[in-house]
Amino acid sequence: MDRVTAMKKSHGPEFRAAQLVLAKCPICRGKAVVKGVFHDLACIQCNASGWVAAETGEALPLEVLVTQLSIRLQAAEERIAKIHCFKPASGPEAAYELNNRRGAGGSNYTGD
Ligand SMILES: [Zn+2]
Repeated sequence: MDRVTAMKKSHGPEFRAAQLVLAKCPICRGKAVVKGVFHDLACIQCNASGWVAAETGEALPLEVLVTQLSIRLQAAEERIAKIHCFKPASGPEAAYELNNRRGAGGSNYTGD
């Protein structure tokens, strides 16, 4: 479902970037920063994005990462907009669906 939503948002056939499967960075746990001695430091493992490639567990190149994050952000914004626009009469069902999606692939540690 998420993939279909993302595709609809894109602008025609020129948009050829495929959505990669991302996993939360195991080093910073998706926070993009790690605790330094005096302050937080940018996480090197994930290019300070909080995400790594699910297949390899490695950081994506920045130019790839930007597009992947954009795809996810657009999908997330669309999802949020839908939640706000079509508030169902029965709240628990919507909450269930949201939690269900969040749980998928949330803890995907593939190791080195
Ligand atoms: Zn990280």
